[in-house]
Amino acid sequence: MAHKVRVCPQCGSTNIHEIHTSVSGWLTPATYHCKDCNYVGSIYVEVDSDELSRLQAAMRGE
Ligand SMILES: [Zn+2]
Repeated sequence: MAHKVRVCPQCGSTNIHEIHTSVSGWLTPATYHCKDCNYVGSIYVEVDSDELSRLQAAMRGE
């Protein structure tokens, strides 16, 4: 069964992880960082694992 994977919206890498920031106890929106292209932002793409290769091919312009 397919599972969901987080994908960088900029380069298609799955090497994206959540940065936990807490400033004086305030709840801040989650921020995501891509280790491959250094994307930092509050959005990421979530796809089924079996859709991943198709998405990455599309992002490469194939
Ligand atoms: Zn990236």
